[in-house]
Amino acid sequence: MLTIVGGPMFSGKTTWIIDYVTKLTPGSFVLFKPNIDTRFGKDVCVTHHGKSFPAVNLNTKKIDFSQLKEELTTIVIDELNFFSPDALIPLIKEQQKKGRNIIGAGLLYDYKRQPFGATLPLSKTADSFIRLYARCDRCGKDAGHSYRKVDVKNQFLLGAKETYGACCDDCWEILSSNV
Ligand SMILES: [Zn+2]
Repeated sequence: MLTIVGGPMFSGKTTWIIDYVTKLTPGSFVLFKPNIDTRFGKDVCVTHHGKSFPAVNLNTKKIDFSQLKEELTTIVIDELNFFSPDALIPLIKEQQKKGRNIIGAGLLYDYKRQPFGATLPLSKTADSFIRLYARCDRCGKDAGHSYRKVDVKNQFLLGAKETYGACCDDCWEILSSNV
């Protein structure tokens, strides 16, 4: 089973992941996060509300599942957007063939509304796709996108409320042009 959770910044993806793993049998799963996301510490997944769960760093440049214990039935990965689809998807397929459940969460789109990393491609092959929404900073409607509050062009820019906001399709252009 492949389950993908996708949404913009502040839509509760990491909260969803932490709630999910909290219900699993200890020792039956591993929770990975990309090694480049060091916003809140190296070995932990943390939500924007401060909820946290211990996580294992996964190297985005050299993804390696070969050290996983045989008895693991579930692999959970947060921030799928930091992984390249070409590198991650074949490895996920391999793990599915071994009978493992894969649950992943991430941003579907970057701040320019372009597909971001492995989240969107994986959502298309998922058995279950859960789309989360935030609240639009401008009009309060369901927000499916993120916008950047600072003038930095690099796609990989870690940040929280001071750097990013969430918005609906209609408000994206207006909020993005405020930078
Ligand atoms: Zn709006």
